[in-house]
Amino acid sequence: MITTLKIRDGSWCDDDDTLCSEAVEFFRNLFDDTGSSQEVFPAINSFPQLSDVALRDLDSTPLRPLRPYVLDNSHDLSGLSFSDFMDGNGNWDLNLLLSIFSHSVASHIISIKCPDVNDVADKPFWRLSTSQSFSIRSAYESLASSTWDNKSSCWKWFWSLPVPQRLRLFIWLSYKERLMTNVERCRRSFGQSLVCPCCHAHAETTVHVLRDCHLAHEIWSNLLPPTCSVDFFHSHFQDWLCSNLTADYTHPAWDLRWSILFASTLWQIWCMRNSWVFNGFPLSTESILHKSVTWARYYTESCVLKEHGSPGTALTPHAHWERLDEGWVCLNTDGGVSSSTGYGSVGGIFRTHDGSWLLGFNKSVGVTQPLQSELWAIFYGLQIARDNGFDHLLIQTDCLEAVNRLNAPYAGSDVNALVRAIVRMRNTGWVTVVRWIPRVENKLADAMAKLDATYDLALFAAAPMPLLPYLVSVVSV
Ligand SMILES: [Zn+2]
Repeated sequence: MITTLKIRDGSWCDDDDTLCSEAVEFFRNLFDDTGSSQEVFPAINSFPQLSDVALRDLDSTPLRPLRPYVLDNSHDLSGLSFSDFMDGNGNWDLNLLLSIFSHSVASHIISIKCPDVNDVADKPFWRLSTSQSFSIRSAYESLASSTWDNKSSCWKWFWSLPVPQRLRLFIWLSYKERLMTNVERCRRSFGQSLVCPCCHAHAETTVHVLRDCHLAHEIWSNLLPPTCSVDFFHSHFQDWLCSNLTADYTHPAWDLRWSILFASTLWQIWCMRNSWVFNGFPLSTESILHKSVTWARYYTESCVLKEHGSPGTALTPHAHWERLDEGWVCLNTDGGVSSSTGYGSVGGIFRTHDGSWLLGFNKSVGVTQPLQSELWAIFYGLQIARDNGFDHLLIQTDCLEAVNRLNAPYAGSDVNALVRAIVRMRNTGWVTVVRWIPRVENKLADAMAKLDATYDLALFAAAPMPLLPYLVSVVSV
């Protein structure tokens, strides 16, 4: 927007009517009678070059922004600066201010410290933060604060749920209906169909995926405690999330807090559905129910562990699978190297304290040595554990060399960078124990490492078929 213009007689003008007529004249000079632009655009010499004198003239009215607030329009403030409103003692001359400005404007001016020649030069500052320094946070809050209600109790519940941060974030995205459903994909212009790929009967909205589609409906029907509200399937989506996540009762059959079981089930429905849509994994109500309960139990146990501290008697060196104290997760890792090609692959499995499957992984690690491969297995296992919030972790490997190197008092300065990286990860506020087990008791991890590993880290939410025989035999020990 043009607010001031130097007009033909050489004077500065900010009168709206004059600016308007000058703007019309300007565009008339740019375009010919047919409305098409002249050959060169922007038209050369349309704007007069401002001389240094003209620029100085422009800068000589520092009080120009105050012009709309003068009491008498004939007072144009030309040539005045704030120092002209000071008395001889370095204070504001209030009477002089009030002779030109209204009381309310003058009251704003006098709240600011008078200019002082001994002070530092003026400089811009960021007024949206108390420190007056720019921060992304203050800028974001200024731009977006009107879009959230930080007094809503929902916020407190979402972010204080005793589940991993990733799950809290998922619930928050669900609440904001920002999950990447077909409806959301179309809204963002990279999807063509709104329809649910599962039932082909409704638009795939967030509430449809998490509650109303037949698979989700069946799961909730199996899981709902008898005390649950009768309008579970009919309430408004956000109300539904809030009321269930804030519910303060325990599921009688599973002895689990309903809010945790509810959150765990939401997550499993979403994950398993994605596995089916993108990877063709079969959808099984029974499997989702089992996983929801297993994970909810883990969240509950690790929460209790955090409140009461870790048990001192949990871990003693022992060579065979044993039941751990509640809240602990057991990670078995293994790494192998092909004697013919030299290529190595790693694998591992996470189990709850009673041996239930949580996660498995494997990955190819290129041409390497056996010790390096074993260390990679532990490294990737730790990364996955950290991502999933397993903060009481027993790591079991059949490589004695790796155990000795990692448990050595000088491990942090080991010559091997991978040992140092593992030590750094272990020293980030969680409880990890590394111990040796015989190879014969590490068959699951061994099988995992040999299972079609690629350079992409593969995660297995359920035990792959070839591992089932080992899993049964290990759990039954
Ligand atoms: Zn559906």
